[in-house]
Amino acid sequence: ALTHEVVIIGGGSAGIATASSMLRRRPGLDIAIVEPAEDHYYQPGWTMVGAGVFDAPVTRRPMASVMPRRAHWIREAAASFQPEHNQVTLADGSTITYRILIVAPGIRLAWEKIAGLEDTLGKNGVTSNYRYDLAPYTWELVQGLKSGRAIFSQPPMPIKCAGAPQKAMYLSCDAWADSHVLNDIDVEFRNAGGVLFGVKEYLPALMEYVEKYGIDLKLNQTLVAVDGPAKTATFKTEAGEEVVAFDMLHVVPPQVAPQFVADSPLAHAESGFVDVDKFTLRHVRYPNVFGLGDAGSSPNAKTAAAVRKQAPIVAVNALAVLDGKQPVADYDGYGSCPLTVERGKIVLAEFGYDGELQPSFPTWLIDGTRPRRLSWLLKSEALPWIYWNGMLNGHEWMVKPEVKTAA
Ligand code: FAD
Repeated sequence: ALTHEVVIIGGGSAGIATASSMLRRRPGLDIAIVEPAEDHYYQPGWTMVGAGVFDAPVTRRPMASVMPRRAHWIREAAASFQPEHNQVTLADGSTITYRILIVAPGIRLAWEKIAGLEDTLGKNGVTSNYRYDLAPYTWELVQGLKSGRAIFSQPPMPIKCAGAPQKAMYLSCDAWADSHVLNDIDVEFRNAGGVLFGVKEYLPALMEYVEKYGIDLKLNQTLVAVDGPAKTATFKTEAGEEVVAFDMLHVVPPQVAPQFVADSPLAHAESGFVDVDKFTLRHVRYPNVFGLGDAGSSPNAKTAAAVRKQAPIVAVNALAVLDGKQPVADYDGYGSCPLTVERGKIVLAEFGYDGELQPSFPTWLIDGTRPRRLSWLLKSEALPWIYWNGMLNGHEWMVKPEVKTAA
């Protein structure tokens, strides 16, 4: 069997940022990254693609270009974990052993849980910003729609970027307002959850936009089936099932732990995500295993913004464990959701565990609870640059982990 000091599963935001962070601290470290995909995506950009602000290709780069030079890239999918033997089995049947394992394969989009959806995605007016190839279709539909009904759905939690379903809607409404067709379009937000957004401080600003755009807000409605050719969507509501005709349907798929994680000894009993301590991000049963990003069980908002703070925490804690010590730093639950309420303005939600507000900027500069132009510049200009050049390269501007001093 192959062996490496550190094995990382997944070369997404979390896997690459953690590898770079560890290598910056310890350049000679032997790290392998298990990642089957040829491309790496900046998924936060897909909301902008769906609104015609970014071209899709700016959100995609070859995986080879983001792999840290000193890491070994294993181009294969992980298939199962044998943590009691410090071993991972890959899809081709080969095995790798490790001293430290870091699990970051993201979340699985469960399109198949909505009957009929997969057959009609990308046609019949059915789209989703949750896929690289479909986000441009959202913009195509927005430009083409002049009247009728547009439905935006949101599945039960957890999902990555919980604000993304409504971001797609606000930016669509803004475009329709610009072209003077918004009055002829019935816009509905049908959310499986019981609130528009989970942190109450942001609700007043969001509700102003719901009213301004004339959005019909429907809560506790779960999309269960789509009939593309007939252009109808079926929602499960408290009153039973409701079949609704649509002209455009933006779907956000239900999301679950990757199956091979859920099936493994690393899984949290209920959610199936990697069962980690929410502060140290170390596995609760296997002390040489860590988990972060969308695949982790920690109850933060599943965002790249969270990963930006988690990666250095995992890096310093994993290096400490490699040296025979205990974890030295705690993650505070930070996550962020830049809510694009109109083209040019954003409500910048930033919060930690239990909905505690954690603004990165003083209120006089950016009041996150209000729509701001500076927040839009952050999302459209600064953050993509910080992602590709800073976060993926292990530069930790503003996110240095606070290392606890020994008691
Ligand atoms: P990912 O980046 O998804 O990476 C997972 C990697 O694991 C992939 O490369 C995959 O190929 C690999 N993998 C999967 N299975 C295996 C396997 N079996 N073996 C090995 N490797 C495997 N975040 C924000 O901060 N702000 C936003 O505004 C924002 N907007 C978003 C909008 C949309 C439409 C979407 C879809 C996401 C958005 N996000 C946003 C969320 C953000 O993209 C994710 O939270 C982030 O990418 C999580 O990083 P990750 O590394 O955990 O997962």
